[in-house]
Amino acid sequence: MTSPDPRPLTPATRCVALGRPPHEPGAPVNPPIVLSSTFVHGGDHVYGRDSTPTWEPFEAAVGDLEGGRALTFASGMAAAAAVLSLVPHGGVVVAPPSVYMGVLTLLREAAEAGGIVLREVDLTDAAAVEGALPGADLAWFESPSNPLMTVCDLPRLLAAARAAGVTSVVDSTFATPILARPLADGADIVLHSATKYLSGHSDLLLGVLVTPDDPRGADLHERLHHHRHLHGAVAGPFETWLALRGLRTLALRVERAGASAATLAARLEAHPAIERVRYPGRGAMLAVEVAGGAEAAERVCESTRLWTHSTSLGGVESQLERRRRYDSEPDVVPDALVRLSVGIEDVDDLWVDLEQALGAA
Ligand SMILES: *Cc1c(COP(=O)(O)O)cnc(C)c1O
Repeated sequence: MTSPDPRPLTPATRCVALGRPPHEPGAPVNPPIVLSSTFVHGGDHVYGRDSTPTWEPFEAAVGDLEGGRALTFASGMAAAAAVLSLVPHGGVVVAPPSVYMGVLTLLREAAEAGGIVLREVDLTDAAAVEGALPGADLAWFESPSNPLMTVCDLPRLLAAARAAGVTSVVDSTFATPILARPLADGADIVLHSATKYLSGHSDLLLGVLVTPDDPRGADLHERLHHHRHLHGAVAGPFETWLALRGLRTLALRVERAGASAATLAARLEAHPAIERVRYPGRGAMLAVEVAGGAEAAERVCESTRLWTHSTSLGGVESQLERRRRYDSEPDVVPDALVRLSVGIEDVDDLWVDLEQALGAA
């Protein structure tokens, strides 16, 4: 891909243009899917657990959007487990008491088993984070967080982690590379569940880690690549190909769904059945606390017709779910909290459905 003028191409254009074969006569417009576990000796690829041609265009595109080098994993959790593998036995991890439930469980179980020491600290209290960092090995950040929609001062926290010599990771799944660039803010690793916005159609599981293009980033890239190779949580070529196909529309989807989320957040604020709206002002995720507690919240979820009552998020279709239905969702998450992932449907159709569901509750 070459830029037609010296201006850097915008993320919206790069989503479309990156990771394509060269513009040559007869070349395909899209990269092919290569289904082969092994490769003839002497070339760039040896064995499919180490590298495969179909990962490369997707990794090149996501790496460029985040401003670093990307590695694809079988899922967001496989990527999270790879990051945790950087911590030595008995090492210290600083993390908030509410992040994505799977990550929280991974960290807490590692701590219970004695593998790590977990220092839980509220990320909105920057001074407390700064106090917890000295002597730590890894700092785990997520902003906005899942499902409380908490936003933290990433540039400040990342600078503090760097100053304390602590490796930092930012789970940027909710923000997407369209709304945040954590590496530019000083992160060592950016994590995405590409299952969500990057692929965008709720039809695959995939994870990505991105590290900066500098010597420190190169070292982390090597260690994470080594982990992927030996633990084997590798992405399938078809999933990776589909994710790149979905990435083409990322900027459009984030723009459209984000505008609808802002409209819905304002309307929900004014609705008598809603006690609190958690919306960080941008992005397509929000959470509401329904008046009448868990039962009323469940009734809302069960009463929608257009919105899908299902877990997960970041797809073209709108989804909602009461998070405390899961035992492992910590009790800092209110019982009546319903997480909404706004899709790209017509905003008034979405509102009419939500209103009737709130009426039913
Ligand atoms: C879904 C999710 C994950 C885990 O990703 P999977 O692809 O489901 O393994 C991690 N972080 C956040 C914020 C998520 O929403």
